[in-house]
Amino acid sequence: MRLAPRYGHFIAGAFTDPAGDAETPAYFPSVNPATEEPLCEVAHGSAGDVDRAVTAARAAFPGWAGLRPSERAKHLFRLARRLQDRARELAVLETIDGGKPIRESRDVDIPLAAAHFFYYAGWADKLHHAYPGRGPLGVCAQIVPWNFPLLMAAWKVAPALACGNTVVLKPAETTPLTALRLGEIAQEVGLPPGVLNIVTGDGRTGAALVSHPGVDKIAFTGSTEVGKLIARSVADHPSATGAPKRLTLELGGKSANIVFEDASLDQAVEGIIQGIYFNQGHVCCAGSRLFVQESILEPTISRLRGRMRSLRVGDPLDKNTDVGAINSRAQLERITAYLEAGRSEGARFWECNGSALPRRGYWCRPCFFTDVQPSHRVAREEIFGPVLAVMSFRTPDEAVARANNTPYGLAAGVWTDKGSKALEVARRLKAGVVWLNTYNRFDPASPFGGFKESGFGREGGMQGLRAYLT
Ligand code: NDP
Repeated sequence: MRLAPRYGHFIAGAFTDPAGDAETPAYFPSVNPATEEPLCEVAHGSAGDVDRAVTAARAAFPGWAGLRPSERAKHLFRLARRLQDRARELAVLETIDGGKPIRESRDVDIPLAAAHFFYYAGWADKLHHAYPGRGPLGVCAQIVPWNFPLLMAAWKVAPALACGNTVVLKPAETTPLTALRLGEIAQEVGLPPGVLNIVTGDGRTGAALVSHPGVDKIAFTGSTEVGKLIARSVADHPSATGAPKRLTLELGGKSANIVFEDASLDQAVEGIIQGIYFNQGHVCCAGSRLFVQESILEPTISRLRGRMRSLRVGDPLDKNTDVGAINSRAQLERITAYLEAGRSEGARFWECNGSALPRRGYWCRPCFFTDVQPSHRVAREEIFGPVLAVMSFRTPDEAVARANNTPYGLAAGVWTDKGSKALEVARRLKAGVVWLNTYNRFDPASPFGGFKESGFGREGGMQGLRAYLT
C-alpha cells in the first residue's frame, strides 16, 4: 500500500495545497496509534480552504442536481464497485490510521461502506416514488468522527449524492486517510469535479465549515458536546439565502444491553463482548451498560470473565487480534480517567489480563466494573473505550426503567428466549435501534439515529434520504 509523504485537500476534483493561515501550520501528521509512528502529513483546513471547497460544491450543484437520476446512480455504483476493488488496501489503511483490528476493517467497515453506496445508488432514480415532489437541498457539510472513518463518510456522502446534493466532507483529525482515498476513487471513476470535496483539519476546520453561509445542510456525527456547539452555530449563522441550515446530529450514547434469565447465556455473553469490545468500544451505540437479571448475575459474570481470557489485544494488523489500539493518546487519557473515577467511586474493577501489550502505542485492556451504582460516572457518561458497567435488575419493568434512565437514547440490546417479552421490552425502550438477541448489526437498509441527547435525524434506509431532500 502506497502513502504519499503529504496530502492536500480534495477540492473541485483535484488534490490542492492548503492556503494556510497565520496561526496554524499548513500540514499536520497522521499517526499510527499502534506504533506512535507518523504515517504521512495531511493539510490543515483554514477558513479559506473551506471557502474554496464550498464554492466548488456550489458551482457543481446545478449540474449534479440536473443530471438524469439514472446517471447519478451510475456514478454511485461506480464508486461502490471501486471501493470493493480497493477493499484490501482500504482495510489496511483504516487499521493503521485508526488502530482498529484488521478483521473488523476488512469484514465490517469497508464492505459496509461499499454496501451503502450500492444501496443509495439504487434509490437515486426512485426518489420520486418515496418522496414525490421533493428535490435536493444544495451544498451539504458533513463532519465525521474517527471511530468508523470511511463507513461514516459513506453513511453521509452516499444518500446526499443520490438525492442530487453536493458535499464538503471533513474527516476527523486523527483518521483522514481513507476519506482522502475516497477522493482518489472519485477521480478514478470520473465523478464530476466539485460534487465531492474533502477538507482535512481539526475542530476549527469543522467550525469554519458549519458557519459558512454557502452551506445548506449540516450532518454531524460525534460527541454530544460538539453537537451542541454546532446547533448553536447553526442558530447564529443562517445560510446566504437567509434560510436556516438543515441539521442532523448523530451523537453520543450509553446504550443498555439487557439480559433476561431465560436468554441463551453463551449467546448473550458473545453479544455482550461484541456489544462493548467491538472497535475497542469506540462505538457510539456500544452496549456500555449491561443489565443482567439478578438470578443469573453470578454465572453471567463468570462466563464473561472466562470468555475475556481468550480475547487477544495487540497488533491491529494481526488477523487474530480481537481488540486493537486506542485511537489516540488523548482518548486513552480520557478512558484512563474514567477507570480512576470508577475505582474511586467504589465500583469493583475486572480486567482481561491475558497477553502482554506492545511496548509502544496506545492500549487499554478490555475491562468491566461490577458493584456499579446508577449514579457512578462509569454508568452515566459515554466513555468510548472498552469499559463495561455491569448492573442487575429483578423485573422487566425495572430493566426498562433503568435502561431509560439516561440522557441518551441511541441503541439497546435485549436477550431473551421469549418473543413476546423481547418485543414488549423493545417497544418501551427509548432508543433509536433495539437489537434482539444480537448486537452491533448494521445494514444500509436499516435506519439509525437517536433520541434525546443522542441527536436527531436518521441515517440509513429510506428514512436516511429525508434529511437530504427539500
Ligand atoms: P468530536 O465530537 O470533537 O469530533 C467529531 C468530529 O467533529 C471531528 O471531525 C472533529 O474534528 C469535529 N469537530 C470538533 N470540534 C468541532 C466544532 N467546534 N465544530 C465542528 N466540528 C468539530 O469528538 P472527539 O474526537 O473530540 O472525541 C471526544 C469524545 O467524543 C470521545 O471521547 C467520545 O466520548 C465522543 N465521541 C463520540 C462519537 C460518537 O459517535 N458518539 C464519535 C467521536 C467521539 P477533530 O477530529 O479534528 O477534532
